[in-house]
Amino acid sequence: MFNIVKGTHDVIQKEAAKYTYVENLLMREAQVFGYKEFRTPIMEYSELFLRSTGESSDIVRKEMYTFTDKGDRSITLRPEMTAGVIRSMVNEKLFINQDYPVKAFYVGPNFRYERPQQGRYRQFNQFGIECVGVDSPYRDIEVIMLGYNALKLLGFKNIKLEINSLGDAETREKYQTALREYFGKHIDTMCDDCKERYKLNVLRILDCKVEHDIEINKDAPIISDYYSEKSKESFNVITNFLKENEIEYKINNNLVRGLDYYSGIVFEYHYTSSQGKDYGALGGGGHYGSLVKEIGGPDLEGVGFAFGIERLINLMEDDNLFGENEISDPLDCYVMPVNTQNEKISFEVASYLRTNGYSADVCLEHKSMGQMFKKAERRNALYAVIIGDDEEKEQKVNLKNLVSQEQISIGLDHLLDKLDELFGENEDEHIHHHD
Ligand code: AMP
Repeated sequence: MFNIVKGTHDVIQKEAAKYTYVENLLMREAQVFGYKEFRTPIMEYSELFLRSTGESSDIVRKEMYTFTDKGDRSITLRPEMTAGVIRSMVNEKLFINQDYPVKAFYVGPNFRYERPQQGRYRQFNQFGIECVGVDSPYRDIEVIMLGYNALKLLGFKNIKLEINSLGDAETREKYQTALREYFGKHIDTMCDDCKERYKLNVLRILDCKVEHDIEINKDAPIISDYYSEKSKESFNVITNFLKENEIEYKINNNLVRGLDYYSGIVFEYHYTSSQGKDYGALGGGGHYGSLVKEIGGPDLEGVGFAFGIERLINLMEDDNLFGENEISDPLDCYVMPVNTQNEKISFEVASYLRTNGYSADVCLEHKSMGQMFKKAERRNALYAVIIGDDEEKEQKVNLKNLVSQEQISIGLDHLLDKLDELFGENEDEHIHHHD
């Protein structure tokens, strides 16, 4: 026996069907908003994350899976997907004809060396979007809405949207000066992480989860007092729009997010299950002013967010948001040879059904009728196709509906028509589109 790597988990069978359902819904919603899929490598040169995610972020300081490959290059398993996606836009020259924005969506695994706990894994999946070449607060709104609508389509009600604006460069400069002055008086008593954050990026201190530091944070200067006119204006456009469209939000001036590249609006989606469970933010994102340039692209602004798929699924399980139809994975037909000598024709009938768009499996394990019906049930089969010596001789099968238990005898040459008729009556149950 081999243990699974700490902080990772197998996603199999019903659980995998949930992932497929959630990911497909999210991808569909991104397409509705005009986004195109990007599949970038899981490995990137480490330098990319130092430059983009940022030296002061917890991710880069403590959580990256970094190794030296046989060619002596420093490689990192991506801890997030924005950096790789923007890198690909630059490398693939997607900005060259200046047709903005470039819209990307993506799904895939990420790796962070964190302490595993509920809702926190070392390998986890994200769905996210990036919209690059952005020159209007309405793009920020569009991105926020995409995430909000997707959560509603998944069945979440009472989503709590938290937002903040980190302002423009001018705002942040003034604010950082004020923070440095304030924390300068307290930093000796604060945690080691904060001492480091003080040096690298003082804004990060606001994110500290240590009790004593939270108390100190309570009296820290507030960013909204430092907004430039321009920052104030675009933040107002966003909050007014949210109000008018009855998207409930809360301003959280301490929301700075875990990555270094944000400027302007930042946001997180929160949800508490009916049992009061909260695994941390479902997702979050924000506007970035200098990231694209930092990665070697033109001076373009962007906005994006990412959801954690595991967190979505955990909460959907807690609140029963998966309908049976959405994740049930029925088998159309289970073919049962009554005797071992009927195995060949049974195998051929199963192949025939598969070729014609019906999912089918066949028992080749020499079981009794009773055992075969149990196997059919465990496979979630809708119909049993039973073939004994008589049937084989007369080129017929017994077709049994495993829900209603009704059984008919039907010639092989009419089997497909019959199935088309039966499945036509109950289109939902059929997993393929058979035409
Ligand atoms: P971030 O890239 O840190 O902004 O995270 C975006 C989303 O990814 C979070 O809101 C979580 O839903 C998810 N996420 C981040 N880290 C983890 C983790 N270690 N395990 C599971 N989900 C995570």
